[in-house]
Amino acid sequence: MQLFHGEKCACGKVHDAGFDRMNVGRGAIGTVVSEVRRLGGTRVFLLSDENTEKVGGKRVEGLLKAAGIPVVRAVLPAGVEPDEAGLDAALKGYDPACDLVVGVGSGVVNDLGKCVATEAGVPYVIVATAPSMDGYASGTAAMIVNGLKVSLPRRSADVVIGDVDLLATAPDEMLIAGLGDMIAKYVSIAEWRISHLVTGEYYCERLASAVREALAACVKNAKGLLSRDPAAIEAVFEGLVFSGAAMNYAGLSRPASGVEHYFSHIWDMRGLAFRTPVALHGIQCAVGTLCAAGIYDALLEVKPDKEKALRAVKAFDRDEWFKELRAFVGPGADAMIEAEARDGKYDPQKHEARLRVILDNRDAIRSIIREEIPRANEIRSLLSSLGAPQTPEAIGQKRSELPLTFAATRDVRDKYVLSRLVWDLGLTDLANARLLREN
Ligand SMILES: [Zn+2]
Ligand SMILES: [Zn+2]
Repeated sequence: MQLFHGEKCACGKVHDAGFDRMNVGRGAIGTVVSEVRRLGGTRVFLLSDENTEKVGGKRVEGLLKAAGIPVVRAVLPAGVEPDEAGLDAALKGYDPACDLVVGVGSGVVNDLGKCVATEAGVPYVIVATAPSMDGYASGTAAMIVNGLKVSLPRRSADVVIGDVDLLATAPDEMLIAGLGDMIAKYVSIAEWRISHLVTGEYYCERLASAVREALAACVKNAKGLLSRDPAAIEAVFEGLVFSGAAMNYAGLSRPASGVEHYFSHIWDMRGLAFRTPVALHGIQCAVGTLCAAGIYDALLEVKPDKEKALRAVKAFDRDEWFKELRAFVGPGADAMIEAEARDGKYDPQKHEARLRVILDNRDAIRSIIREEIPRANEIRSLLSSLGAPQTPEAIGQKRSELPLTFAATRDVRDKYVLSRLVWDLGLTDLANARLLREN
């Protein structure tokens, strides 16, 4: 896996991640000492939770102490949340004499570790315990602030250590989640290209193709994932780390996140607001990917109709929709609604201009869909071969709510994704029919 270190690319950007290196392989945990030394660490703050403590925390502490590096510990309770209380618990044990943070864990521990290292202004090393999500090398932390899920800019790990033997101890569910967060990239990359075409958004083919390659390696090795084939674990882990870094390289989330992530985001928001069920991020993304792929399949079958699209937009009542949105996702909708004042995506004139571009480029858009996204059936059989959830019911969601969930994804951020393309084309009925179908 090629990492970029401040190179000027043909896309015009300098790709730098603030992320230095990843050490992946069997026994990679042993590199923690040399990495701490290389980064100038003389006193380490070691963060884990009760679960990751058993599988890796103790070992890392032993390795550092054996090398004569003093260690200050914080072991968070199992099930700690990435919220104010979680961060307080992590910071409480912090000793300002520490000059480096090492996290041992995955999602939550890593996000809290990024926050602590950012606040303390010291380097950060993460020893990963599960290949379950792509946040290891991303420059953001997924936190809950005032009961709302937000993505905060935080220092990325300087070094990510993925010991394959340690990663292999992760439960099946976390391995499946990791693969789910990778297959999401089929949609992410397609939508990045579609947006580039429709809105003129920046795009980098070099980053897109690197993510594609990483995804292909995951899919190729997927059958060995649950039997803990080291090649499968390594492919998923490297793919996830690279995807997170790719967001830093691009300076935006496009290389790793599209409408499938917004499905997950809406489910998370509803979980916080109404205590509806929430599954692992990557598992929600897998189901979101399947939902999106079904709609992309349906789009390939229809001929866009300009008059129909204009009629649909004329009939759209924005204020009515915002009422519905707020009732569906809770207080988190306020920021989404406010953003529309700035974005103006529902403005009929802007719509007409976009529609013209879409209709002029209909063949190019169809080619992107065909090139980037496998048919929904293929994705379904991949998930099915791993015993992964493939339906909304399997993750505690109601199928009847999928149309509303999909509509809500339009407003998550100012990003041109499938739900906005569907709205632009006046094809909400078609998309909803596809979402409500059993397969
Ligand atoms: Zn580039
Ligand atoms: Zn993700």
